[in-house]
Amino acid sequence: MTQPPIQPDPSFIAGGVAKTPFVLQHDPVALFTTRATRFRFLAQSSDLAAYLEFLADLAEMQARLAGQLPPPEPVDAAQQAQATQATLPLINRANLADRTGLHDYVIALCAEADALSMPDVARQALDAVRSANVGERRQMLANILNDSVPADSVAPHLFVAAAVQVYMARLAASLPADALKPVSTGVCPACGGKPVTSSVLGLRDIENVRYATCSCCATQWNEVRITCLCCGSTKGISYRSVDTKDATVKAEVCTECDHWVKILYQVRNASLDPVADDVGSVGLDILMRNETDFTRGGFNPFLAGY
Ligand SMILES: [Zn+2]
Ligand SMILES: [Zn+2]
Repeated sequence: MTQPPIQPDPSFIAGGVAKTPFVLQHDPVALFTTRATRFRFLAQSSDLAAYLEFLADLAEMQARLAGQLPPPEPVDAAQQAQATQATLPLINRANLADRTGLHDYVIALCAEADALSMPDVARQALDAVRSANVGERRQMLANILNDSVPADSVAPHLFVAAAVQVYMARLAASLPADALKPVSTGVCPACGGKPVTSSVLGLRDIENVRYATCSCCATQWNEVRITCLCCGSTKGISYRSVDTKDATVKAEVCTECDHWVKILYQVRNASLDPVADDVGSVGLDILMRNETDFTRGGFNPFLAGY
């Protein structure tokens, strides 16, 4: 399986020397299509098969909506310049929960999702989101845009998060790559979101570069390896995995802040997906919870119930 095409970056080859691009932006339709395929594949050999199949259906729907819904209102040049000046992410997520266009994405996604097969508890959650008033929908949007899912409302937030992902992936893909600059370790330069996971990959003739993937807008940004994405520490980093030999998904553990974030070795398996394989490797979450005192640092609304 191939990864979504990476948009060409003219700065990639500077004077004949390969240069690591700071960000990898993805075509939203290709992004969700690839993710759906990966969820489907992971469902073949997992205790979570039914849930992974559901997430595959959901990602297919996200791909469809990314190609059908009106594009998000772009970030204007003045806001881009202001954000750059202040070393802030270009998209200000704090403003978005009030945006009618984003509410429309939630409404459209919930209408489409009605056709998906899902257990009763998910159906009830979907109905709850569909019948939510503007204020309730705004609150759910604000939670997701703040990288948080209330423990008593995981299932409704899953649908809201799926809509936010489509909207934000499209908004982030519309930003000029050369305007995206480092904000700080573990912070998405496009929207300020938290990473879901990070990936070690090979880009043409550059081996083993690491990119964190935004849980909100799916932008991937370059991060130095062996660095905690939660606190930026380069000390006290170690790795844990379920299978000790040839693991392609590991926990990068930091003893400075006691958090861990998954790291995916796409160099060993190019079909790994930053979101799908996070859900697919829930066994690692269980291991970390049962055998350590460290706290998960990666954000994934699809894993909030686990
Ligand atoms: Zn982002
Ligand atoms: Zn740390």
